[in-house]
Amino acid sequence: MYKFLIDKLERENSLTFNEYLDLIQHREQICDYAAERAAAVRDKYYGKRVFTRGLIELSNYCKNDCYYCGIRRSNKNCERYRLTAEDILECAKEGYSLGFRTFVLQGGEDSYYTDELLCGIIREIKRLYPDCAVTLSLGERSYDSYKALREAGADRYLLRHETCSKAHYEKLHPDNMSFENRLRCLYDLKRLGFQVGAGFMVGSPYQTEEDLANELLFLKRLQPQMVGIGPFIAHRDTPFKDFENGTAEMTLFLLSLIRLTLPRVLLPATTALGTIHPLGREMGIEAGANVLMPNLSPTAVRKKYMLYDNKICTGDEAAQCVNCLANRIKSTGCEIVNDRGDYNYEI
Ligand code: SAH
Repeated sequence: MYKFLIDKLERENSLTFNEYLDLIQHREQICDYAAERAAAVRDKYYGKRVFTRGLIELSNYCKNDCYYCGIRRSNKNCERYRLTAEDILECAKEGYSLGFRTFVLQGGEDSYYTDELLCGIIREIKRLYPDCAVTLSLGERSYDSYKALREAGADRYLLRHETCSKAHYEKLHPDNMSFENRLRCLYDLKRLGFQVGAGFMVGSPYQTEEDLANELLFLKRLQPQMVGIGPFIAHRDTPFKDFENGTAEMTLFLLSLIRLTLPRVLLPATTALGTIHPLGREMGIEAGANVLMPNLSPTAVRKKYMLYDNKICTGDEAAQCVNCLANRIKSTGCEIVNDRGDYNYEI
């Protein structure tokens, strides 16, 4: 019965709301089969190649106050830092020598990083490493700002929509943040020719199974090139400190459904998944993911970019992360490759 739905999803790359919901509600019966089909679809478009993105967490200053996030403005226990252009270029240099061919600049929404400063950094990375992709994950900005960043050479932009339900969005964010602006940003980014990444947290407070079924329909409509999902993990200094964490089990099943819905999507097995379960990232690859995003941030600042409690890999050197992941991924039958890992528009 549920096998029939997975087969239909593989064939047609879409299901109705009720069909997605039915699968989500009965996931324990069908998750192994879903993972097997999702991995087969991943192999068809990308082979057993897992792409890595070197994550540079450039600042934990943030003007926003998202209820779930450890670097929210109101968290007085968060020790703030920001990296200079020189620091960022140093991370990229080390990353390049370790084999990374994509750099992701992520941070809180920090007005220190003007368009001018960011464009200079992007141009310099592209000049020094013309074979690399630059991905940004710096939150909501204006159309003109995104345009300037794109013209400076940025290739991709990650901006999780966090939830596709306006009512749910308003339970996760204060009044001065808007669901409409979040979506406006995603559509602006698409229009400007970025490869765009959307996504959401799994098991965030107040999320229902119906919301998750809607997430799959939303992603199908948006057609992003990348989708980032990971379990919600409570942070002790946030208003959501007492909420339950999301589960690896639900995250893995959704990774498989996303792969079957958007066969070519670049899909990371996230650090949050590796935090909630010791083998989370390996299982993510087995469930159809094909991207890993190890940390390239300087060791001195890593513990300060604490979006949620117990985040892994905050004590390691970049090189350690790379070696550790390479070994872990071998167990899945996949292999890490040194490649930009662009979206497969071809086949
Ligand atoms: N300021 C940027 C980057 C945000 S951090 C932006 O707005 O896009 C990247 C992602 O971490 C967020 O989009 C969110 O989905 C996730 N995140 C934040 N807090 C989290 C938590 N407590 N548990 C799990 N994921 C979290």
